[in-house]
Parts: sequence; structure tokens; C-alpha cells
Amino acid sequence: MRYKYYDQHRAGLAAGGKIPLGLKRKGLRIVVTGGAGFVGSHLVDRLIARGDSVIVVDNFFTGRKENVMHHFKNPRFELIRHDVVEPLLLEVDQIYHLACPASPVHYKHNPVKTIKTNVVGTLNMLGLAKRVGARFLLTSTSEVYGDPLQHPQVETYWGNVNPIGVRSCYDEGKRTAETLTMDYHRGAGVEVRIARIFNTYGPRMCIDDGRVVSNFVAQALRKEPLTVYGDGKQTRSFQFVSDLVEGLMRLMEGEHVGPFNLGNPGEFTMLELAQVVQETIDPNARIEFRPNTEDDPHKRKPDITKAKDLLGWEPKISLRKGLPMMVSDFSQRIFGDHKENGA
Ligand code: NAD
Ligand code: UDP
Ligand code: UDP
Repeated sequence: MRYKYYDQHRAGLAAGGKIPLGLKRKGLRIVVTGGAGFVGSHLVDRLIARGDSVIVVDNFFTGRKENVMHHFKNPRFELIRHDVVEPLLLEVDQIYHLACPASPVHYKHNPVKTIKTNVVGTLNMLGLAKRVGARFLLTSTSEVYGDPLQHPQVETYWGNVNPIGVRSCYDEGKRTAETLTMDYHRGAGVEVRIARIFNTYGPRMCIDDGRVVSNFVAQALRKEPLTVYGDGKQTRSFQFVSDLVEGLMRLMEGEHVGPFNLGNPGEFTMLELAQVVQETIDPNARIEFRPNTEDDPHKRKPDITKAKDLLGWEPKISLRKGLPMMVSDFSQRIFGDHKENGA
């Protein structure tokens, strides 16, 4: 059964974003799996602000209640502790499926659980979407391109992925999640959207999650050396979280299945990133080289032409503009002035 609010909402979209006469826009009922995590909690803020009702489904593996507790008194907000590997019955219009640890340190911690989350968890959420006629958005990743041989990466590139390596639970897991999503779309007519997200940073990231931006920022604030892995010449492209959330919402509301790369094309070596962190926090921060991790991709940069053309989306916040917003959140959390929601 499809919900009437959703049809009404889509009639509004078809009318160029305007609500047809006689139809007042009612909020949608939206599930955000992984909504207590870094990206999910920012998405929840935007959906609540838009007037929707949001159900967060999270097992708190890497998410925190603190990220969403500012909504606890809102009757349009609900938080369910649930693991997506188990079936779930809900009645909703849209599903943003984010549940999955994203930092290499976290997803390698229990690789079998990571692949179950990606495969069984995604299957369950697609089964839910099919049963209630909800639109489903998968947050896939640039890791589906593996250690890419094509640069920058376009959506038509099939990638260069090691199927038996230490990162496979995540990148092969997400590739299977994409396959399931397309098979539910083709086979069961589920309305789906696929985003391939490139490295994203911002307030509310876990402080000790081992990702490079959170590590460098926390290290510089604590007056510890910045740990550069390998020779520091590997590259990544860093996107500020509000740009990503805008892209995810445009993708969900638009008419295109994807996949769409969502990332900031500004490309930095890890040594350049360390330099920007030094400029932003502490020019005297030292750099310490450490051995690199296994299967680390050498280069990564999104081609976002497709998202620009079809979603009218592109990132607005450069690394030098976004980093200070993350630094103030991290310094409040590290030095403890009790502000928890990082808004
Ligand atoms: P995060 O770790 O902060 O958030 C993931 C959330 O999912 C957490 O709240 C966690 O508790 C929850 N979760 C994990 N396993 C679960 C399970 N089995 N059942 C229910 N909840 C579960 O990570 P994030 O950076 O917010 O990433 C969100 C999504 O975006 C992930 O799917 C990730 O793969 C994708 N992504 C993120 C980035 C990035 O740079 N942040 C890049 C590419 C893709
Ligand atoms: N599922 C769920 N919630 C629902 C509907 C389905 O969690 O509202 C799960 C269901 O338990 C199953 C998976 O989604 O494991 C796939 O469901 P589908 O109906 O597509 O397949 P089937 O149940 O026939 O295997
Ligand atoms: N990295 C680093 N120092 C750190 C953490 C990571 O130099 O303290 C490097 C890592 O080797 C990789 C890049 O930074 O080349 C990005 O790592 P991250 O874990 O943030 O994301 P991903 O590898 O998933 O892109």
C-alpha cells in the first residue's frame, strides 16, 4: 500500500515543487537507518526541519544518542534501537538506508558483521520498501571503485576491488547492496536511489574513529603529532557533511535512480591535508609517518558531472571553510564544555 501523503508530496514535486491548489503539503513518514550516526543525524535534522516525521533505526554500534537527543521531545521524532540484520515492520513513505559502520577501523573490527549488515540489512530494508511501497535510498560508497585505475571516477567505471582483502567486507558488501537494490528495482518495481558517497567530514564524527580528518583534527587539538600513513602522497577528496545531506535529499526527491557520485572534487594528498590542519589549528603541529594499512586506495576523486546535470547539485563548502566548523565541535567535545549535539 502506498501512503497518501507520499502521493500528495509527489504531486507537489511534479508541479515544479509547488503544492497544487487544495493540497497542503503534509510531512512524510521517513525511516533513517543509521540515523544516530554522523551523516544520519545531520540528515535527520534537515528532515525534521522540513516538517517530516522521522524514525531513526540504529543499533548504536558507532552512533550515539547524543547526536539526536535534541529531537527527543519532538512528537515527530522516534528512536528505535534495532539491528537491521533482523527484520523490521514499519509503515513509511521513504527509507534512507545508512546503517553500516563507515570508518575502516570500525568496519574491520567485526568484518563478518559488516558484511551481514550490508547484505542482510539491506535485503531487509528492501523487503520493507517492497511491502509498503516506500522509496528506498542506499548510501553506497566510493569504495565500490576499490583502488581505481581510472581517474577521476565516473559512475560507469566498474572498479578495481580485491574480493578477499581486509577492506572487502565493506567494499564488496556495498557492491552487493547496490546489486540487491537494482534487483529489487528491476524485479519488484521498488523505487530506488543509489548514492556513492566520497569521504565526508564534519561535526559529530566519532572523535577516535581512525578516519584521517578526525584523527588529524583530534591530534592537533591534543598537541599530538599528526599520523600520516605511508608516504602521505595518496589522495582523497573531502566533502563537508551539509553538502552531502543536500545531495542525498535531492537524489531522494528527484526522478533518477543513479548511481550518483556525491563528493567534493577538491583532491588533497594526506600531506596537504595535514598542512591545512596545521594552518587551521596549530602551525607547530608535528607530522609523524606510520606504516600504511593494507589495500589502501592510492587516488580518489569523484567526477560529479552526472549529479550536477541531473540533480542540479554540487558541493559549496571547501575544505578550508568546512574544517573550522568541525574543529569547533571537536574542541568542545574534547575539552568538554558539555555541548553534545554539534549543531
Ligand atoms: P557512522 O558510523 O557514523 O554511522 C553509521 C550508523 O549506522 C551508526 O549510527 C551505527 O550505530 C549504525 N549501524 C551500524 N550497523 C548497524 C546495524 N547493523 N543496524 C542498525 N544500525 C547500524 O557512519 P557515517 O559516516 O555516518 O556513514 C553513514 C553511511 O554513509 C554508511 O552507510 C556509510 O557506509 C556511508 N558512507 C559514508 C562515508 C563518509 O565518509 N562518512 C563515505 C562513504 C559512504
Ligand atoms: N522484511 C522486513 N520488513 C518488511 C518486509 C520484509 O524486514 O516489512 C524482510 C523479510 O524478513 C525478508 C527480507 O525483508 O528477510 C526480504 O523480503 P522479501 O519479501 O523481499 O523476500 P522474502 O521474504 O520472500 O524472502
Ligand atoms: N590516513 C592517514 N593517517 C591517519 C588515518 C588515515 O594518513 O591517521 C590515511 C589512510 O591511509 C588513507 C587516507 O588517510 O590513505 C584516508 O583514510 P580514511 O580512513 O579516512 O578513509 P578511507 O581510507 O576509507 O578513504
